[in-house]
Amino acid sequence: MNLDILKPPVEKLEDPLFEEKEVNVSVLRLDKVHPVLSGNKIYKLHYFLEEALQSDNAEEKYNRTVLTFGGIYSNHLAATAHACKLLNLKCIGIVRGERHPKSTHTLKQCEADGMHLHFVNKLKYQFRDSKGFQDEMIALFGNCLIVPEGGYHPLGAKGASLIMDTFNCKKYSHICMATGTATTLAGILAAVPSSKQIVSIPVLKNMTDINERLKYLLPELEHTDNLQVLDNYYFNGYGKRDDSLFEFMNQCWVNYKLPLDFVYTGKMMYAVIDSIKNNFFKSGSEILCLHTGGLQGNISLPLNTLLY
Ligand SMILES: *Cc1c(COP(=O)(O)O)cnc(C)c1O
Repeated sequence: MNLDILKPPVEKLEDPLFEEKEVNVSVLRLDKVHPVLSGNKIYKLHYFLEEALQSDNAEEKYNRTVLTFGGIYSNHLAATAHACKLLNLKCIGIVRGERHPKSTHTLKQCEADGMHLHFVNKLKYQFRDSKGFQDEMIALFGNCLIVPEGGYHPLGAKGASLIMDTFNCKKYSHICMATGTATTLAGILAAVPSSKQIVSIPVLKNMTDINERLKYLLPELEHTDNLQVLDNYYFNGYGKRDDSLFEFMNQCWVNYKLPLDFVYTGKMMYAVIDSIKNNFFKSGSEILCLHTGGLQGNISLPLNTLLY
């Protein structure tokens, strides 16, 4: 599978706060692996795309077609659409909600990449993983490979583990990431030695089911003693934001030349830096933050909200 994915650089952040607290902070720039397929999504899609491309079942089983799900700003839909375009696969996006006349940048990009969009109302969308719903989609669109929303599936987690092959994790004591479906978290947990602390920052309100999610994604995982969840940094809920978040994101741009998105990585970095201030990280900690991409989502913000 040739998608021209680059090796993500690791960038060290400099800040008097980190010196004072005697910690080091670096960022794995997964947002830089590809101009469009940025972040964690292309890793989560890896094995699904491989499956859809299998030549011995390409025609009959999946019809060289991928079908997946997402909201109107979905990074996952955007990545799937573009990957399918590059791999010459057909692609269908089931979108939560009504079609708006103005659409969104994300959905326009998906359509420009050749994704066929099919809108379903929010009530019906809840049943997207049910057999009934999926049978209906197959009746409409023919045989296809169905990728759950956000790649939330053991195969998605297996793909996310590939992130750990892109850099040398030896020196880090902590690996921090934003958590949506927890698929990336599962992949990282599966691939790192249990001596490393894994820090998850949920971006959804009241995300109390991380352990159940991990059990589904990673049935063979025996313990999660090295997992820590910072569950107070969701800023009122998924996609919600306020001026303090934007101010923080602009500061990260000015101080570190680090562009963040407001749904995931902005909240993750806010949590990490706030937790350094609160002495959550012991002196001597070597902290690696995963920049999981998502910058295309910032286009939906009013002009001049962000300095970048
Ligand atoms: C989708 C996404 C996440 C969340 O990943 P999960 O595997 O669903 O937990 C994190 N960051 C960005 C930028 C994303 O687009």
